[in-house]
Formats: sequence, structure tokens, C-alpha cells
Amino acid sequence: MRVAIIGGGIGGLTAAIALRNAGIEAVVYEQAQQLGEVGAGIGVAPNGLRVYERLGLRDAIESVAARYGDGSVYYRADGTLIGEMTTSDSSGRYFTLGLHRADFVGVLTSALPEGVVRTGHRLIGLEEGEEGVVLEFASGVTETADLVVGADGIHSVVRAAVTEPTQPVASGSIAYRGLVRADRLRSWTPGIAQLWMGEGKHFLTYPVRSGELINYVGFVPSGERLRESWSAPGNVEALRADFAGWDDRVEGLLEEVEQTFWWGLYDREPLQRWSTDRVTLLGDAAHAMLPHLGQGANQAIEDAMTLAVLLGAAAASSAPEALGEYERLRLDRTTRVQSGARDNGLRYDSGYEDLRQRDDEIKNSKTFRRWLYDYDAEAVARERVLTVD
Ligand SMILES: Cc1cc2nc3c(=O)[nH]c(=O)nc-3n(C[C@H](O)[C@H](O)[C@H](O)COP(=O)(O)OP(=O)(O)OC[C@H]3O[C@@H](n4cnc5c(N)ncnc54)[C@H](O)[C@@H]3O)c2cc1C
Repeated sequence: MRVAIIGGGIGGLTAAIALRNAGIEAVVYEQAQQLGEVGAGIGVAPNGLRVYERLGLRDAIESVAARYGDGSVYYRADGTLIGEMTTSDSSGRYFTLGLHRADFVGVLTSALPEGVVRTGHRLIGLEEGEEGVVLEFASGVTETADLVVGADGIHSVVRAAVTEPTQPVASGSIAYRGLVRADRLRSWTPGIAQLWMGEGKHFLTYPVRSGELINYVGFVPSGERLRESWSAPGNVEALRADFAGWDDRVEGLLEEVEQTFWWGLYDREPLQRWSTDRVTLLGDAAHAMLPHLGQGANQAIEDAMTLAVLLGAAAASSAPEALGEYERLRLDRTTRVQSGARDNGLRYDSGYEDLRQRDDEIKNSKTFRRWLYDYDAEAVARERVLTVD
């Protein structure tokens, strides 16, 4: 079986590693000339870390990451403590890591043999036939594959081959993201994530790169700034103004910001289906979600492991059934996470006036996080293989 993965983001790269681990020939076609992304962090949650452990990459990832855990907290905008953040699974063996995106992509590409990732390949169309799928790239090159995995993000081209066209849903917010050197911040608590909740806005920080850098994300209503751009340089003064009067720690960090980038925040309604006999979707292409649970990439990582286990156990002739199983296994969970991310965004932007009086709110949020973090994508998929056998 030769699998073509379209898109070399976190989802596509992890899928290539997992598929090759399962003995399947997988190649990644990426439109960009080079992999990587401008300065921003990303959190690998316990459910993602578990997958990387199984792929033999846990140590490599931890070596470039910053662990954050106990002591991670929610505040109100003025710095009043609200409660503790859940950052580990029930066993405590898996926790959350903050990574600089470039470091993360570096670890993933080093785990793949040379030539597996083919940059400068922008897919413009595909045709599925009985014998395979023909891929057409903007350069005029065509390639064929037995199966295609669309890991090409929220604006996926592959999606058109498997489902009706839909539009991304604008959240009404944008996110400013960037990195600040930790040694520039006075009396900053190391090793924790912190999230400040205000009216219609929230602000998140966590460490990356062994704690040398602090990643920040400021979520604000979009107003006229809303446009369908994925990442663009942001205005540092506007960012500071958005959080003026907040906790000193927020204002102090923003004083040190030299450069910021901003993202329009979009998700999509859950798809009813995302596979045909030979084509499927993975990550944001399948289930784009808002970032308010820090799960977009982590769900892509779970997808990758699930797909690899199911395809690894399938013969070439039963690949269509394996893709169907993959979709069935992933659809319910990712739909729940998509809607959980929307809910969490509303909670974070509520100012949380009454949270401290409402224990159940914290308890429910913890229960949901544990449901997210305890998930063992490999074990669930293996069980499905046994059941089907
Ligand atoms: C502000 C913010 C904070 C976030 N924080 C977190 C977090 O802490 N934890 C987390 O898990 N998630 C987080 N996310 C979400 C996460 O970034 C995405 O969900 C995740 O990166 C999706 O990965 P992907 O591989 O599916 O898609 P993408 O990362 O979008 O990758 C798609 C790839 O496909 C390529 N591509 C696109 N079209 C084509 C084509 N036609 N031909 C060839 N290649 C193509 C693109 O160039 C890109 O490299 C955050 C998102 C935002 C906006």
C-alpha cells in the first residue's frame, strides 16, 4: 500500500511516522518550500504525548519542550485566583508540554527518512479510480497513490473529494501569538501555564524550549480586523491596548513583546463523513476546531495513530473498510472536542464572575479534561481491530 499524505503540518508529519511504523509506505506532499512556522508555541497534551511515547519519540520531544503542570492556574483579568488548571492525565504519567513549533516540526522531520517529505508540492486536484488515486500538483507534476490522506488544514483541497463544500465558521475573535524571553520577565513563575479570563477576552501563557521562552496568546474580539487570514504580523500597540489595565503580569509581559502575529479564529461544523474508498481526511482538514482546549493538533495526533493501527492491520483489499472504521472511531470524539472548544472559549471570555462560587464548574471542566487526556488512541484502535476480526 502506498499512501500519499497531503500536508506537512503536525498532523501530516505524525501520520507519516505512524504509518511507516506500521509498515506502510507513506510520502508527504507539502505546498510550502520549507516546513516550519513563524514564532509561536503549541501545547502537546497528555493524549498526544501518549501517542509519541508509543512512536518512540517521547524523549526527543521532551528534550526540546518545557513541561508545565502543577501550579498551572486560571485568574480573573485583575489577577485574582480562580482555580487550578488540569494538565495531566489520571495516572500522572502523561502531562502537558509546551513547544516552539519549529522545534516540534524539527523533531518530527528528523524521525522520517530523507525524501519522505516532498516540499514545493501544492495539490490542486485528485481523481479517484478503481486502481488508485491520481494527484495533480500546481507544478504540473502528477503522482499516483493507493490511498490519500488529506492533512491539508482548515482550507483543505482534499476535502472537496470526499464531502460537500462548507464554509469555515468565524468565531468573532482573533488570537495574537508570540514569544518572549523568560529572563526578561521579572518574578515570573516557571513551569506553569497561566490563563487570565476577562469580558470577551482572555490571555494565555506557557513556557516552551526548556523554559527559555514564554509563549503568549491574547484572544480578543475581532471587530473590523476580522479577515480570513491565517497568520499575519500584528500590531504590538493594539495588542497592549487590548489588555491595558489587566494584571501586572500580563501588562509586564506585553511590555517585552517586540513582534506579534495574529490569527483569525475559525472552525467548521462537524462533517457527516470524511472518507471514500481511497481518500480520507485527518486533523484540521477533517475537524477544524477553535484553540480553546489546545486540542487541534492533539486530535490530529490521535487521528494519525488510529489510522496507522487500522491500516497496519488491513490488507490492501480491505483498506476501504479500514478507512470507514477510522472515520467511525474518530468522528464522535472529534465532534465532542469541536463543541467543547467552542464552549470553553465562551467560558474563558465570560469574565468568570461566579466561578469561585460554583465548584461544579471547575469539577466539570476537570472531568472533561480527564476524558480528553486519558484517551489511548492506540489501544482503542487495536481493540476495534480485534472486534472486527
Ligand atoms: C492561536 C492558536 C493556538 C493553538 N494552540 C494549540 C495547542 O496548544 N495545541 C494544539 O493541539 N493545537 C493548537 N492549535 C491548533 C493547531 O495549530 C491546529 O489544529 C493543528 O496545527 C492542525 O494541524 P494539521 O496538520 O491538521 O493542519 P495544519 O497545521 O494547518 O497543516 C496543514 C499543512 O498542509 C499544507 N497544505 C495546505 N494545502 C495544501 C495543498 N493544497 N497542497 C499541499 N499542502 C498543503 C499547509 O501548508 C500545512 O503545512 C492552535 C491554533 C491556533 C490558531
